[in-house]
Amino acid sequence: MKLTEILADAAGPLISCEFFPPKTDKGEANLWQCLQELATIRPDYVSVTYGAGGSSQDRTKRIVIRIRHETELTPVAHLTCVGATREDLAALLEEYREAGIANILALRGDPPEGTDRFKMVKGGFAYASDLVRFIREQHGNFSIAVATYPEGHPESPGGVEDDIRFLKLKQDNGACVAITQYFFDNEAFYRFRDRAVAAGVNIPIVPGIVPITNYTQIVSFSAKCGAIIPDWLHTRMQPLVDDAEATKAAGIDIAAEQCADLLAHGAPGLHFITLNKSEATIAVCRRLGIAKESI
Ligand code: FAD
Repeated sequence: MKLTEILADAAGPLISCEFFPPKTDKGEANLWQCLQELATIRPDYVSVTYGAGGSSQDRTKRIVIRIRHETELTPVAHLTCVGATREDLAALLEEYREAGIANILALRGDPPEGTDRFKMVKGGFAYASDLVRFIREQHGNFSIAVATYPEGHPESPGGVEDDIRFLKLKQDNGACVAITQYFFDNEAFYRFRDRAVAAGVNIPIVPGIVPITNYTQIVSFSAKCGAIIPDWLHTRMQPLVDDAEATKAAGIDIAAEQCADLLAHGAPGLHFITLNKSEATIAVCRRLGIAKESI
């Protein structure tokens, strides 16, 4: 099913879950187990991230196509401009089309491991908005999602103002939904959304949510991607770092509180960054009564 159809049919909040392609057979077995468990709450779609290396990119493709063929879930393939020419991207999009994949999350991409800046390849794209336009113009059958940053992308010199401008460009070039970088300060999301709407953004902006299961890992991710760890979160989570069960329970409480507030303030859905773990996302959705099984 295309994202445009899912958005048009949505009766309640849009629930989606994000996974990464594991490197090992054990990791992959865990992913399929996790997908099976999450299928019980019937997410509207599931997305699979795309790395910078060739083997990781192949794993994304294989997993996305397997989800399409072997489950009832709707897959969304993340796709980036990293290391790819237009021809490379066109070939992959064609493979996806032939496999019945209808949805792409179009990104510029993170710089490859060991480098600190994105480098456009000759014959490729510098920005996600260019990739969105290319997909719409040359491969118009796909629905296109994009990323956005309520707390600002780390490379945006003009801060959130830039991020809003480029989100509007992605919309104008063909995106039908935006998914945010995860954040913990809902007020930052509300401010961003209000400013985006004032700037003419009218596609749904779906908050990215990361239920914390390992606080040290989240602190390290956040330093890289620019997500802010508020003092209240640090005060609540840091004392629990050596207690995995207490961390998980607090992570679920915090995510459930955050999601309830977001939905009460009109968020069109929730995009869960699962880190290939199902328990916390399922617990949050059930607590909020938004697991589709319970409707
Ligand atoms: P862009 O929108 O192109 O923005 C990149 C930078 O360029 C920003 O600083 C922006 O301000 C600036 N910019 C944008 N357009 C212009 C313009 N026209 N002129 C001048 N400056 C401009 N990374 C991966 O590698 N794989 C994934 O699977 C992945 N999935 C993600 C999913 C979500 C929901 C999110 C929020 C992020 C994801 N990322 C992923 C991370 C993302 O690739 C990085 O944040 C990357 O640095 C920016 O990608 P983008 O698509 O937002 O880029």
